[in-house]
Amino acid sequence: MTNEEYQPRKRLFILLMGVAGLAIMVLAFLLWYIPTVGLGHIHPWLPWLFGLLLAVVSLVVLGGLGLLVLTLVTGRDLFFSDRLRKVVIRTMFPAIINLGKLFGIDRDTLQQSFIALNNQLVRAKKVRVRPDKALILLPHCVQLFDCDIKITGNVNKCIRCGRCNISDLAEIASERGIDIAVATGGTLARKIIVEKRPGFILAVACERDLTSGIRDSYPLPVIGVLNHRPHGPCFNTHVIMDEVRQALDAHVLPPDAA
Ligand code: SF4
Repeated sequence: MTNEEYQPRKRLFILLMGVAGLAIMVLAFLLWYIPTVGLGHIHPWLPWLFGLLLAVVSLVVLGGLGLLVLTLVTGRDLFFSDRLRKVVIRTMFPAIINLGKLFGIDRDTLQQSFIALNNQLVRAKKVRVRPDKALILLPHCVQLFDCDIKITGNVNKCIRCGRCNISDLAEIASERGIDIAVATGGTLARKIIVEKRPGFILAVACERDLTSGIRDSYPLPVIGVLNHRPHGPCFNTHVIMDEVRQALDAHVLPPDAA
């Protein structure tokens, strides 16, 4: 999947945020309008004070959404994109997934959108770490099913026969002095992260695993690269190496500059 293919997915999430913003305005109006009649009986100023409170809350939420959209459109870190990423990851994502479901959008598409959005926010932060602070995390399914070598635990056992992308990935990691590991599940991925304590992660996986990995690893900056599944899920999957190289170029210092 190329960066261009990511664009519509990112737009989907932004569109859903726009719908959420509209819903917030309508809700705020209703919350103000309905009790106004009752509050007016207690004191004539109360409806206006209540309206002011709701307007402030709505403006804060809408301002957050607006800043998030601007960060995504301009690609610049608007001072607190890290906080925005936290809001997106912890709060907005579950809300947007539920909103998307209401519109009949499938979970994979929404998760792709979330990954594209997360990647853009990480890019906006312009994180650059030393190679020894970076980690490439892979799913086991990138390895050729028929390969006899057990690379889980040590990817460098791969003899680089070139029949699967493990060869390219091990090569790129060794050239750049970056740690590389295969995680057979979320628990092992968390264990590897705790042990290696990286400052930046490039994670390859499917939509579901990347989404949960990005959310679990927060606040660590994670760039998610989707694997391709021409033979179905979890079997002999492929990685677009240009995506990996671009992410490493952008976020990991070259070995001689570190
Ligand atoms: S590239 Fe490495 S992991 Fe893939 S089939 Fe060859 S030896 Fe096995």
